[in-house]
Amino acid sequence: MNSATYIEQDEQWVEHGCSECEWAIFAESFPEAISAYHSHLREHHPDAWLQA
Ligand SMILES: [Zn+2]
Repeated sequence: MNSATYIEQDEQWVEHGCSECEWAIFAESFPEAISAYHSHLREHHPDAWLQA
């Protein structure tokens, strides 16, 4: 009898949008979202990133 069961309970995706453009990130955790957001800022909005 195969009782291997996967139940994904943590489907709490964090959304973080960009205040400068339409970009948005969906991440599995808030720190991950912030990290991706900062990467986006640094790459696309260097001026905004310097002020963040
Ligand atoms: Zn942006």
